[in-house]
Amino acid sequence: MANPKRQTSKRRQRQRRSHHALTATATTNCSNCGELVRPHRVCGSCGWFGGKQVVAVEED
Ligand SMILES: [Zn+2]
Repeated sequence: MANPKRQTSKRRQRQRRSHHALTATATTNCSNCGELVRPHRVCGSCGWFGGKQVVAVEED
């Protein structure tokens, strides 16, 4: 069985985990409907992108 030669020190474990933090998703408001949207993505609620309608939105 493959086993680590040494126990990982608290310092090394914490150094490794210092890169594990999550960041909040960047959002802006849609220029057409004001809904929260991720930058450089088509708006999910109105299909607007780059100042014009690029995707037809189905309405239920
Ligand atoms: Zn929109």
